[in-house]
Amino acid sequence: MAGGGSCGVETACHLGMQQKNVTVAEMLDICESDEDSRVREQDYKLMDELGVARMVSTRVVEITETGVILECAGEQFYKPADNIVAAFGYVADNEAYEEFSKVCQDVTVIGDAKEARRLVNAIREGYLIGGNI
Ligand SMILES: Cc1cc2nc3c(=O)[nH]c(=O)nc-3n(C[C@H](O)[C@H](O)[C@H](O)COP(=O)(O)OP(=O)(O)OC[C@H]3O[C@@H](n4cnc5c(N)ncnc54)[C@H](O)[C@@H]3O)c2cc1C
Repeated sequence: MAGGGSCGVETACHLGMQQKNVTVAEMLDICESDEDSRVREQDYKLMDELGVARMVSTRVVEITETGVILECAGEQFYKPADNIVAAFGYVADNEAYEEFSKVCQDVTVIGDAKEARRLVNAIREGYLIGGNI
């Protein structure tokens, strides 16, 4: 699993439940850095129970035909893998904003189109803009 954010960890656990041999490579020193610590603790426990390995402070630098090149503490090394799941994260897609702005003066971007975050942010921004229409 290339990336140990929420998507990477959840997918790794899903694969671990199918008795697959999974390793999560995460460049930060913890997985699920944006998660609540209680959620992270539970997910770490689940990964341990399922035998999902964690490699933190480990950056994926290259994906090859047969595995990945990883870098940890300045050292690069190769790890073979049958499959690699890219879970490097997500970014805002506000392409539509550019298009709409050409035909409408008052366009407001909310939710993940503004910045990829959590449900609560999208709901709050929807509530606020809805109240102003
Ligand atoms: C795998 C995953 C797990 C997540 N888990 C959580 C979680 O547990 N808790 C949490 O708080 N957040 C979670 N999030 C984040 C959360 O899903 C988002 O923050 C939230 O959905 C943002 O809402 P939104 O309405 O801005 O965007 P979205 O929910 O992405 O909705 C945008 C919609 O617009 C549609 N669309 C795009 N372009 C067009 C177009 N041109 N015309 C018509 N429709 C279009 C899309 O198909 C989509 O249905 C998760 C995200 C992912 C990817």
